[in-house]
Amino acid sequence: LVSREHHLDRSVVTVAGVPFGPDTLTVIAGPCAVETPSQTLEAARLAKAAGAALLRGGAFKPRTSPYAYQGLGERGLRILADVSAETGLPVVTEVIDPAGVELVAPYADMLQIGTRNMHNFALLQEVGAAGKPVLLKRGFGATIEEWLMAAEYIAQRGNLDIVLCERGIRTFETATRNTLDISAVPVVQRLSHLPVIVDPSHSGGRRDLVLPLTRAALAVGADGVMIDVHPDPGTALCDGNQALTRVEAAEVATAVAILSPLM
Ligand code: PEP
Repeated sequence: LVSREHHLDRSVVTVAGVPFGPDTLTVIAGPCAVETPSQTLEAARLAKAAGAALLRGGAFKPRTSPYAYQGLGERGLRILADVSAETGLPVVTEVIDPAGVELVAPYADMLQIGTRNMHNFALLQEVGAAGKPVLLKRGFGATIEEWLMAAEYIAQRGNLDIVLCERGIRTFETATRNTLDISAVPVVQRLSHLPVIVDPSHSGGRRDLVLPLTRAALAVGADGVMIDVHPDPGTALCDGNQALTRVEAAEVATAVAILSPLM
């Protein structure tokens, strides 16, 4: 269902009126995790400075360590709803288990499946039936074929509003958190009609790499990027090292604006 054999032309997926697909560069930005109302509102303003059309933010955080910040849960979803109402930015937020879909879906304009859950087939099927667009991140140990099959689980439930997100894979390299597989973008665009965006924040795990990786993503033809921003990265409860502040967020907006007419 997600292959170009099934659907020859590249698809446009629309999320609360915001298009993803050919001819557009769509930016999603926001805090890695929702922490407080003011932090989320400030981050949403930074997201706008980065040129974002959608606000990201995790209320449920699937962390590698059970001792790391796990998110505010439903309270975080309510904060996202308030900030969305105030800023006009639709919400992209992660759901981490099948039982959580019923709770998260009403708050989400787009449901995010994170890298650790790409192989959670029960969850994929549940979001496939939830009636909301889905942002499907690539598993950090998944091949492109496995990633597309994960999308197929969602599509099989009648939901073809899927945006794929390359977020880096695990390699022998330790200088970056993960290795951004930049070639995955054109490879997947040839195999699948679904839009493909890149997360330069989680792949590199380093603030100084976000702008160069954004440029690389856009140059190679990605349909957008998803960026972490934070009003005070030094105090962030999750992934502060990769969060952009105002100046860097504006640089992302400039990179997108420069590359948009070249598409
Ligand atoms: C995220 O985007 O909040 C996130 C946890 O990313 P990933 O699943 O790619 O690690």
